[in-house]
Amino acid sequence: MAARPFFEAAEPHMGTLVGIKLYARNELQAKTAFRAAFDRIAQLDEMLSDYKPASELNRISRTALRRPVKVSDDLFRVLAAAQQLAEDTGGAFDVTVGPVVSLWREARKERHLPDPDLLDAALSHCSYRKLHLDKAAQTVTLDEEGMQLDVGGIAKGYAADAALDVLRRLGIRSALVAASGDLAFSDAPPGHRGWKVAIAASDSVLELTNAAVSTSGDSEQYVEANGKRYSHIIDPATGIALTNSTTVTVVAPRGIVADPLATAISVLGEHQGRKLAAKHAGVAVYIRGSSATVSSSKGRHPGRASSS
Ligand code: AMP
Ligand code: MG
Repeated sequence: MAARPFFEAAEPHMGTLVGIKLYARNELQAKTAFRAAFDRIAQLDEMLSDYKPASELNRISRTALRRPVKVSDDLFRVLAAAQQLAEDTGGAFDVTVGPVVSLWREARKERHLPDPDLLDAALSHCSYRKLHLDKAAQTVTLDEEGMQLDVGGIAKGYAADAALDVLRRLGIRSALVAASGDLAFSDAPPGHRGWKVAIAASDSVLELTNAAVSTSGDSEQYVEANGKRYSHIIDPATGIALTNSTTVTVVAPRGIVADPLATAISVLGEHQGRKLAAKHAGVAVYIRGSSATVSSSKGRHPGRASSS
Protein backbone atom coordinates (compact mmCIF):
# COMPACT_ATOMS: atom_id res chain seq x y z
CA MET A 1 0.00 0.00 0.00
CA ALA A 2 1.40 3.41 -0.97
CA ALA A 3 2.18 5.79 1.91
CA ARG A 4 -0.66 8.18 2.61
CA PRO A 5 0.11 11.81 1.69
CA PHE A 6 0.40 14.56 4.32
CA PHE A 7 -2.06 17.46 4.67
CA GLU A 8 -2.32 20.42 7.04
CA ALA A 9 -4.80 23.22 7.68
CA ALA A 10 -5.43 25.94 10.27
CA GLU A 11 -8.49 27.91 11.33
CA PRO A 12 -9.18 30.45 14.09
CA HIS A 13 -11.19 28.90 16.93
CA MET A 14 -11.32 29.30 20.73
CA GLY A 15 -9.44 32.60 20.59
CA THR A 16 -6.44 31.04 18.87
CA LEU A 17 -5.31 29.50 15.60
CA VAL A 18 -6.02 25.77 15.65
CA GLY A 19 -3.78 23.66 13.41
CA ILE A 20 -4.41 20.12 12.20
CA LYS A 21 -1.88 17.86 10.47
CA LEU A 22 -2.93 14.49 9.12
CA TYR A 23 -2.25 11.69 6.68
CA ALA A 24 -5.15 10.80 4.40
CA ARG A 25 -5.89 8.61 1.38
CA ASN A 26 -6.35 11.62 -0.86
CA GLU A 27 -7.22 15.31 -0.88
CA LEU A 28 -10.96 14.73 -0.79
CA GLN A 29 -10.72 12.62 2.36
CA ALA A 30 -8.41 15.22 3.94
CA LYS A 31 -10.75 18.11 3.12
CA THR A 32 -13.78 16.30 4.48
CA ALA A 33 -11.84 15.43 7.63
CA PHE A 34 -10.59 18.99 8.21
CA ARG A 35 -14.12 20.37 7.82
CA ALA A 36 -15.60 17.88 10.29
CA ALA A 37 -12.83 18.35 12.87
CA PHE A 38 -12.92 22.16 12.73
CA ASP A 39 -16.73 22.09 12.90
CA ARG A 40 -16.54 19.95 16.04
CA ILE A 41 -14.11 22.44 17.62
CA ALA A 42 -16.38 25.36 16.65
CA GLN A 43 -19.34 23.53 18.22
CA LEU A 44 -17.41 23.07 21.46
CA ASP A 45 -16.36 26.71 21.44
CA GLU A 46 -20.03 27.72 21.14
CA MET A 47 -20.77 25.61 24.22
CA LEU A 48 -17.75 26.19 26.42
CA SER A 49 -16.65 29.78 25.74
CA ASP A 50 -16.98 32.32 28.54
CA TYR A 51 -16.51 35.12 25.99
CA LYS A 52 -19.70 34.24 24.07
CA PRO A 53 -22.75 35.45 26.03
CA ALA A 54 -24.98 32.74 24.51
CA SER A 55 -22.64 29.81 25.24
CA GLU A 56 -24.08 26.93 27.23
CA LEU A 57 -21.47 27.64 29.92
CA ASN A 58 -22.62 31.24 30.34
CA ARG A 59 -26.27 30.25 30.22
CA ILE A 60 -25.63 27.83 33.10
CA SER A 61 -23.80 30.55 35.05
CA ARG A 62 -27.01 32.65 34.76
CA THR A 63 -29.72 30.02 35.19
CA ALA A 64 -28.45 27.20 37.43
CA LEU A 65 -28.83 29.33 40.54
CA ARG A 66 -29.90 27.04 43.40
CA ARG A 67 -31.70 24.78 40.93
CA PRO A 68 -30.38 21.90 38.84
CA VAL A 69 -30.12 22.58 35.11
CA LYS A 70 -29.52 19.77 32.62
CA VAL A 71 -26.44 20.25 30.45
CA SER A 72 -24.95 18.68 27.30
CA ASP A 73 -22.72 15.59 27.42
CA ASP A 74 -19.70 17.72 26.48
CA LEU A 75 -20.18 20.37 29.15
CA PHE A 76 -20.89 17.73 31.79
CA ARG A 77 -17.76 15.76 30.85
CA VAL A 78 -15.61 18.90 31.10
CA LEU A 79 -17.12 20.01 34.42
CA ALA A 80 -16.87 16.50 35.90
CA ALA A 81 -13.16 16.30 35.03
CA ALA A 82 -12.64 19.82 36.39
CA GLN A 83 -14.40 19.05 39.68
CA GLN A 84 -12.40 15.84 40.13
CA LEU A 85 -9.16 17.81 39.74
CA ALA A 86 -10.46 20.54 42.05
CA GLU A 87 -11.01 17.87 44.73
CA ASP A 88 -7.56 16.36 44.10
CA THR A 89 -5.83 19.75 44.35
CA GLY A 90 -7.82 21.30 47.19
CA GLY A 91 -9.11 23.86 44.70
CA ALA A 92 -5.81 24.88 43.05
CA PHE A 93 -7.66 24.07 39.82
CA ASP A 94 -11.09 25.64 40.08
CA VAL A 95 -13.45 26.49 37.22
CA THR A 96 -15.48 28.82 39.44
CA VAL A 97 -12.64 31.41 39.29
CA GLY A 98 -14.55 33.28 36.54
CA PRO A 99 -15.29 36.49 38.53
CA VAL A 100 -11.62 36.87 39.48
CA VAL A 101 -10.39 35.96 35.99
CA SER A 102 -12.60 38.78 34.56
CA LEU A 103 -10.93 41.36 36.82
CA TRP A 104 -7.45 40.21 35.80
CA ARG A 105 -8.45 40.24 32.13
CA GLU A 106 -9.48 43.87 32.51
CA ALA A 107 -6.21 44.53 34.32
CA ARG A 108 -4.21 43.09 31.42
CA LYS A 109 -6.14 45.24 28.96
CA GLU A 110 -5.75 48.45 30.98
CA ARG A 111 -2.25 47.60 32.21
CA HIS A 112 -2.89 48.09 35.91
CA LEU A 113 -3.57 45.71 38.78
CA PRO A 114 -7.17 44.98 39.85
CA ASP A 115 -8.70 46.92 42.74
CA PRO A 116 -8.14 44.85 45.93
CA ASP A 117 -11.72 45.41 47.21
CA LEU A 118 -13.23 44.31 43.91
CA LEU A 119 -10.90 41.32 43.93
CA ASP A 120 -12.03 40.33 47.45
CA ALA A 121 -15.68 40.66 46.46
CA ALA A 122 -15.14 38.58 43.31
CA LEU A 123 -13.16 35.94 45.21
CA SER A 124 -16.00 35.47 47.71
CA HIS A 125 -18.05 33.92 44.86
CA CYS A 126 -15.31 31.51 43.80
CA SER A 127 -15.22 27.98 45.14
CA TYR A 128 -15.60 24.61 43.50
CA ARG A 129 -17.56 23.63 46.60
CA LYS A 130 -20.35 25.95 45.42
CA LEU A 131 -20.66 24.06 42.12
CA HIS A 132 -22.62 20.80 42.26
CA LEU A 133 -22.91 18.11 39.62
CA ASP A 134 -25.43 15.30 39.53
CA LYS A 135 -24.07 12.54 37.34
CA ALA A 136 -27.30 10.53 37.06
CA ALA A 137 -29.40 13.55 36.07
CA GLN A 138 -26.49 15.27 34.23
CA THR A 139 -27.31 18.56 35.92
CA VAL A 140 -25.38 21.51 37.30
CA THR A 141 -26.35 23.65 40.31
CA LEU A 142 -24.67 26.83 41.56
CA ASP A 143 -24.98 27.92 45.18
CA GLU A 144 -25.10 31.67 44.84
CA GLU A 145 -25.50 34.71 42.63
CA GLY A 146 -22.34 36.28 41.20
CA MET A 147 -20.76 32.96 40.26
CA GLN A 148 -19.21 32.59 36.81
CA LEU A 149 -17.79 29.38 35.37
CA ASP A 150 -14.60 29.52 33.29
CA VAL A 151 -13.32 26.34 31.64
CA GLY A 152 -10.42 28.12 29.88
CA GLY A 153 -7.95 25.84 31.67
CA ILE A 154 -9.40 22.61 30.26
CA ALA A 155 -11.53 23.32 27.16
CA LYS A 156 -8.78 23.40 24.54
CA GLY A 157 -7.37 20.06 25.66
CA TYR A 158 -10.84 18.53 25.51
CA ALA A 159 -11.48 20.09 22.09
CA ALA A 160 -8.22 18.61 20.76
CA ASP A 161 -9.33 15.16 21.97
CA ALA A 162 -12.76 15.61 20.43
CA ALA A 163 -11.29 16.67 17.06
CA LEU A 164 -9.07 13.56 17.02
CA ASP A 165 -12.12 11.40 17.75
CA VAL A 166 -13.94 12.88 14.76
CA LEU A 167 -10.91 12.27 12.52
CA ARG A 168 -10.64 8.68 13.71
CA ARG A 169 -14.31 8.05 12.89
CA LEU A 170 -13.61 9.31 9.37
CA GLY A 171 -10.78 6.82 8.93
CA ILE A 172 -7.87 9.17 9.72
CA ARG A 173 -5.63 7.24 12.07
CA SER A 174 -2.60 9.51 12.06
CA ALA A 175 -3.26 13.14 13.01
CA LEU A 176 -2.13 15.97 15.24
CA VAL A 177 -4.37 18.76 16.57
CA ALA A 178 -2.72 21.87 18.04
CA ALA A 179 -4.78 24.51 19.84
CA SER A 180 -2.15 26.98 21.00
CA GLY A 181 -0.49 25.31 24.04
CA ASP A 182 -2.64 22.19 23.83
CA LEU A 183 -1.72 19.39 21.44
CA ALA A 184 -3.14 15.92 20.91
CA PHE A 185 -2.16 13.22 18.43
CA SER A 186 -3.21 9.76 17.29
CA ASP A 187 -1.06 7.09 15.57
CA ALA A 188 2.46 7.84 14.30
CA PRO A 189 2.99 9.36 10.86
CA PRO A 190 3.71 6.63 8.27
CA GLY A 191 7.30 5.41 8.60
CA HIS A 192 7.90 7.21 11.91
CA ARG A 193 7.86 6.14 15.53
CA GLY A 194 5.68 9.07 16.59
CA TRP A 195 4.87 12.75 16.23
CA LYS A 196 7.91 14.87 17.10
CA VAL A 197 7.01 17.41 19.76
CA ALA A 198 9.36 19.99 21.23
CA ILE A 199 8.63 20.31 24.95
CA ALA A 200 8.38 23.99 25.88
CA ALA A 201 9.39 23.46 29.51
CA SER A 202 12.56 21.55 28.62
CA ASP A 203 14.97 21.26 25.72
CA SER A 204 13.81 17.79 24.76
CA VAL A 205 11.95 16.61 21.71
CA LEU A 206 9.61 13.65 22.25
CA GLU A 207 8.17 11.25 19.71
CA LEU A 208 4.61 10.60 20.79
CA THR A 209 1.62 8.57 19.70
CA ASN A 210 -1.91 8.57 21.10
CA ALA A 211 -1.10 11.21 23.69
CA ALA A 212 -1.58 14.88 24.51
CA VAL A 213 0.84 17.63 25.49
CA SER A 214 -0.29 20.82 27.24
CA THR A 215 1.81 23.78 28.27
CA SER A 216 0.81 26.49 30.75
CA GLY A 217 2.88 29.58 31.28
CA ASP A 218 2.87 33.34 31.12
CA SER A 219 4.79 33.71 27.87
CA GLU A 220 1.89 35.35 26.04
CA GLN A 221 -0.79 36.61 28.42
CA TYR A 222 0.37 38.71 31.35
CA VAL A 223 0.33 42.17 32.94
CA GLU A 224 3.49 43.73 34.37
CA ALA A 225 3.44 45.91 37.50
CA ASN A 226 5.91 46.73 40.31
CA GLY A 227 8.55 44.74 38.47
CA LYS A 228 6.39 41.60 38.56
CA ARG A 229 4.79 39.71 35.72
CA TYR A 230 1.27 38.52 36.52
CA SER A 231 0.12 35.52 34.50
CA HIS A 232 -3.39 34.65 33.24
CA ILE A 233 -3.48 31.82 35.79
CA ILE A 234 -5.00 32.68 39.18
CA ASP A 235 -4.23 31.16 42.54
CA PRO A 236 -7.80 30.56 43.78
CA ALA A 237 -6.54 30.61 47.38
CA THR A 238 -5.70 34.33 47.11
CA GLY A 239 -7.32 35.62 43.91
CA ILE A 240 -3.89 36.84 42.80
CA ALA A 241 -2.46 36.00 39.39
CA LEU A 242 0.68 33.86 39.46
CA THR A 243 3.99 35.69 39.40
CA ASN A 244 6.30 32.68 39.54
CA SER A 245 6.98 32.78 35.77
CA THR A 246 7.15 29.04 35.39
CA THR A 247 6.35 27.03 32.31
CA VAL A 248 4.73 23.66 32.91
CA THR A 249 4.36 21.02 30.22
CA VAL A 250 2.32 17.89 30.88
CA VAL A 251 2.27 14.79 28.70
CA ALA A 252 -0.79 12.60 29.29
CA PRO A 253 -2.89 10.04 27.44
CA ARG A 254 -5.63 12.63 26.69
CA GLY A 255 -5.95 16.41 26.43
CA ILE A 256 -8.73 16.50 29.02
CA VAL A 257 -6.08 15.27 31.48
CA ALA A 258 -2.99 17.16 30.24
CA ASP A 259 -4.58 20.62 29.91
CA PRO A 260 -6.02 21.08 33.43
CA LEU A 261 -3.03 19.32 35.02
CA ALA A 262 -0.66 21.86 33.42
CA THR A 263 -2.76 24.71 34.83
CA ALA A 264 -3.07 23.05 38.25
CA ILE A 265 0.66 22.28 38.52
CA SER A 266 1.42 25.93 37.65
CA VAL A 267 -0.62 26.93 40.73
CA LEU A 268 0.67 24.18 43.04
CA GLY A 269 4.35 24.72 42.30
CA GLU A 270 7.00 22.14 41.65
CA HIS A 271 6.91 20.06 44.84
CA GLN A 272 3.16 19.54 45.16
CA GLY A 273 2.76 19.57 41.39
CA ARG A 274 5.05 16.57 40.96
CA LYS A 275 3.22 14.72 43.73
CA LEU A 276 -0.07 15.34 41.92
CA ALA A 277 1.34 14.20 38.56
CA ALA A 278 2.70 11.01 40.14
CA LYS A 279 -0.86 9.98 41.04
CA HIS A 280 -1.84 9.86 37.36
CA ALA A 281 -0.76 6.89 35.25
CA GLY A 282 0.91 7.73 31.96
CA VAL A 283 1.61 11.34 32.95
CA ALA A 284 4.98 13.08 32.66
CA VAL A 285 5.61 16.65 33.78
CA TYR A 286 8.29 19.14 32.79
CA ILE A 287 8.72 22.35 34.75
CA ARG A 288 10.85 25.30 33.78
CA GLY A 289 11.10 28.01 36.37
CA SER A 290 13.82 30.19 37.74
CA SER A 291 15.66 26.98 38.66
CA ALA A 292 16.69 24.05 36.47
CA THR A 293 14.36 21.90 34.40
CA VAL A 294 13.68 18.42 35.72
CA SER A 295 11.19 15.85 34.51
CA SER A 296 9.43 13.02 36.26
CA SER A 297 6.93 10.41 35.24
CA LYS A 298 5.03 7.43 36.51
CA GLY A 299 3.63 4.34 34.87
CA ARG A 300 3.74 3.93 31.13
CA HIS A 301 5.48 6.99 29.73
CA PRO A 302 3.32 8.05 26.80
CA GLY A 303 6.37 8.82 24.68
CA ARG A 304 10.06 8.23 24.30
CA ALA A 305 12.90 10.69 23.98
CA SER A 306 13.82 11.18 20.37
CA SER A 307 17.35 10.48 19.25
CA SER A 308 17.37 13.64 17.13
P1 AMP B 1 -4.20 27.33 30.64
O1 AMP B 1 -3.75 28.25 29.59
O2 AMP B 1 -4.71 26.02 30.17
O3 AMP B 1 -3.23 27.19 31.79
O4 AMP B 1 -5.53 27.97 31.29
C1 AMP B 1 -5.55 29.27 31.77
C2 AMP B 1 -6.97 29.76 31.79
O5 AMP B 1 -7.71 28.99 32.75
C3 AMP B 1 -7.11 31.19 32.21
O6 AMP B 1 -7.09 32.04 31.07
C4 AMP B 1 -8.45 31.20 32.91
O7 AMP B 1 -9.48 31.29 31.96
C5 AMP B 1 -8.51 29.84 33.55
N1 AMP B 1 -7.91 29.77 34.90
C6 AMP B 1 -7.07 30.66 35.50
N2 AMP B 1 -6.69 30.24 36.72
C7 AMP B 1 -7.32 29.03 36.90
C8 AMP B 1 -7.34 28.09 37.99
N3 AMP B 1 -6.63 28.27 39.10
N4 AMP B 1 -8.10 26.98 37.83
C9 AMP B 1 -8.82 26.77 36.69
N5 AMP B 1 -8.83 27.63 35.66
C10 AMP B 1 -8.09 28.74 35.75
MG1 MG C 1 -4.60 24.20 30.97
